[in-house]
Parts: sequence; structure tokens; C-alpha cells
Amino acid sequence: MSDNIRVRFAPSPTGPLHIGGVRTALYNYLLARKMGGTFILRIEDTDQTRYVAGAEDYIKEALEWFDITPDEGPGYGGNHGPYRQSERKDLYAEYVHKMVEDGNAYYAFDTPEDLTKAREEAKANGNHSFKYNWEIREKMRNSVSLSAKETKELLEANTPYTIRLKIPTEQTISFNDVVRGEVSFASYELDDKVIMKGDGMPTYHLANIVDDHLMEISHVIRGEEWLSSTAHHVLMYQFMGWEAPTFAHLPLILNPAGNGKLSKRHGAKFGFPVFPLEWKQEEETYRGFREDGFDADAVMNFLSLLGWSSGTDQEKFTREELIQAFSLDNIVKSGARFDIDKANWFNQQYLMEKPGADILEILKGRKNAEQLSQYSDDYLLKMIELMRERVILFDDFVDNGSFLLGSPKEYDEKTFKKKYKNENAVHFDAIKSLISEQTDFTAENLGNQVKNYIKSNELGFGAIFPILRIILSGTMKGPDLFAMMELIGKEEVLIRWEAINTLQNV
Ligand code: GLU
Repeated sequence: MSDNIRVRFAPSPTGPLHIGGVRTALYNYLLARKMGGTFILRIEDTDQTRYVAGAEDYIKEALEWFDITPDEGPGYGGNHGPYRQSERKDLYAEYVHKMVEDGNAYYAFDTPEDLTKAREEAKANGNHSFKYNWEIREKMRNSVSLSAKETKELLEANTPYTIRLKIPTEQTISFNDVVRGEVSFASYELDDKVIMKGDGMPTYHLANIVDDHLMEISHVIRGEEWLSSTAHHVLMYQFMGWEAPTFAHLPLILNPAGNGKLSKRHGAKFGFPVFPLEWKQEEETYRGFREDGFDADAVMNFLSLLGWSSGTDQEKFTREELIQAFSLDNIVKSGARFDIDKANWFNQQYLMEKPGADILEILKGRKNAEQLSQYSDDYLLKMIELMRERVILFDDFVDNGSFLLGSPKEYDEKTFKKKYKNENAVHFDAIKSLISEQTDFTAENLGNQVKNYIKSNELGFGAIFPILRIILSGTMKGPDLFAMMELIGKEEVLIRWEAINTLQNV
């Protein structure tokens, strides 16, 4: 292991990247950036039966969306490639054969029928979780149970085989996990995992350790579900005489109820995304944070705290702050509950502060782009300022602020009825004239003029403002009344004034 910090995110391209995978990538990235190390993307595609077209592109697009772009990886350069395991196939044979020669792995000639039979026998003996291990190894057809001569003949006859690890019967396999401390497994509980399949492809376990070694990975940061495999990995490092990397297994991301792993079913059930980007597969569409209108930095901040804590009360972190504060020592052991309200809160905070020009650029690439193209950037930037405290998601700027892009589609008639008094009709006419006379059409001047009128006529604000609000925006909610007037302009204000007549008669 070199002194350099080299970490890798090693997804299998079997479908869209779950948000938990993004968190794993993020923690790897943060450690690399903090330590001046290298963040590597490795595509673990040795299981061709589970390969899903488009999944690798999805993974890259997701990482790029968060701007956690790998330093090395397929399409990113680096001198430890290739970075797709399927392209490294020939490289693994050497290592697997060393393990066979050293007696740490063996050829297994069992046919699928042999394995089914062994499984059924185990079941008949009340043993439901069949394990190909030290107990039954000698009863199966492999180079441990057969003589050297028989093995040689089978190999020469091109009999299909897999290669399995020969797990020692009695050994305590221990390693130090940064998150969990010392972790031990009794070897007799482990199975003789297949490390090379019949087609000559390595399985995950073999490819994973060979690549971590060859790519000089210093820290393996991955989900907790890989903890038990680590025993096999540690053993293989011993067999190969290699130093194992440092391990850190991240806690599970739990569903909103906190009683199990967050899955895509929860997303569908509770109506929130569990994937970074939208993904369409067969008839199904899986929602993505991006398409739902989340800001990548906000989601990144949200994810950073699902399993890590800075040890302070601070929740909002810029990327730089995260990099500085991040440390593997502060990863928590217990599962982290996924709370979409928290994600919304982060998004709201981020949209409150995001530069208007950046927001505008994003909105121009979203569903309301066409409608927005009818307005000048200057107009839209002002609209963004008026709306930014009233939105959670990107599309809310337009969805909640539609009255700034055209007359209201509907009006809060109930409140209008309650607030409108016939005796004030003269005042609404007078205020209309007052407004039409103004050449200084700024919120400040309009506000002063209207407020003075109200005061000098001894009217209450409550008799006038709600009505003006409803005719301008249709609703009682919305930005400052006079700022709205300034933005939509005199002509439009006067056009919308007509609603007073219509609403009186409904
Ligand atoms: N290919 C594994 C996965 O899909 C990677 C596990 C690891 O990081 O070692 O999650």
C-alpha cells in the first residue's frame, strides 16, 4: 500500500444508482479531497447476467450532476486502468491460479444437478441454508476430494469447472473496521465462495481484491452489506501475501419509519425519489431528485449527514466545509433514517442563497422553459428574487409564481367576498387612477402612494391590501404587493384591475 490516499467507488451497473450508492461515492470523494488523494470509479461488471444497458452512463451522469467527478475511471483517464472489470478479465487468471497452486483454492467440477442434489439433501437433514463449505467439501466433486490424477483428467477433458476458495476450518478472521472497530468471523461459518466462474470470469470477491490491490487502493469505503464478505476478502489478501486496505463500512440508510433498509418501494409508497436521476426501465419510471427539482448541492449536503456527523450542531456545509470537516472517525454506526422533509428543508435553504443567474440557467433547462423564453432575463431574475423565499423545489418558481408570468388562472373568491365592501368601490377606482398616474413605478413609490391614500381616507389596510393582492396574484399568498406591481408593470396592473368587477359578481 502506498502512502497516497486512493479510494474507489465500485458500483455494479445493474440498474440506476440508489441514493445510498451516491452517499458511498460522496464519502469516498470527500476523503480523497480532504487528504489530497485520488477518487476512482471502477465499474464492477463481472456478472454479465445482471448487466443493464445504460446503467454505467447513469452512474457517471449522477456523479457529474453532484460534481463529484472521478479523477480516474472509464472515460476519466488514469494509469491503473482499464477501470471496467469486464475489460480486465485476462488479468485475474494469474492470481486465481496462484491460489490454486498454493492450496488455497480448488477446482470444483460439480454440475448444477450435483449442487441441486446437495441442496436438497441438506434440506432433508433440516439444514435450510446450504453452504458449500468444509463440512461437505469432501463429498463434492472437486480437486480436494478427487485425486490429482482424476483432476488432471477432468481438466484435460475440458470438463466445466468453477474455482472455489478453500476456507480454513478453524481460524478467526479479524480485521479492524474504522466504523465498527475490530470485527471477527469464525472461518468455519464461511462458505467456499466461487471466485472464478465457468466462463472464466472472476466473481465479485476475487475481482474486488485483485483490483483494490492493483489499483493501490488505500481505503475501502462501502456499504454495510459488504461487511460479511470482507472476511473472505481479508483471507484472500492473506493468501496472496498482500496488505489489505483500511476498511470502513457505512451504516444502512433506513426507510422513513426507521425499521428497515430504504428501498425503491418506499419511494413509490411515500412519493419521493430514492434515485439521483430519473430512470426509465421497461414500463416503469423511477423518480429522480434532479427531475423532482432538487439542487445537487442541497442533496449532497443532505446525504453527507446520512451516516456522518461533524460532531457539532452545524447542518449546512458548503462543499469546502464538508471536505474540511469530513473524517472517517465521525461516521456513525447506527442506520441513518431517510427523511424527505429534511431534504426539502435543505433544498429550500439552498435556493434561498443560490445566485439568481444560476437558478435561471437551471429553470431554462426544465419543464417551463418554453414559457420562460417569452420573458427577458432581467424580468426573470427579478421574478426569481421575489419568489426565492417561497419555493422548495426549482419548478416552484414558476408553479407558485405563475401570476408573475400572466394573469392569475384562478382567484381566491372566498377571501375576496369576505374582504370586499361595496362602499370601498370609489376607493379602488381612486387607487387605480393614482397608480395610473405614477411615472416612478417602483415598489417603494407605489407603496408610499397607496399607503398615504389609505391613511388620509382613514381606511384600514385590511380593507384594501387583500383585494389588491387577489386581483394581482389570485391568492393571498405571494411576494410583496408593490414589488409585484413594479415587476409586472403599470399596463398589466391596470389590466388585472378589471378582476374587481368580475369578482364582485360571482
Ligand atoms: N460492486 C459492489 C457494489 O455494487 C461494490 C462493493 C465494494 O465497494 O466493494 O456495491
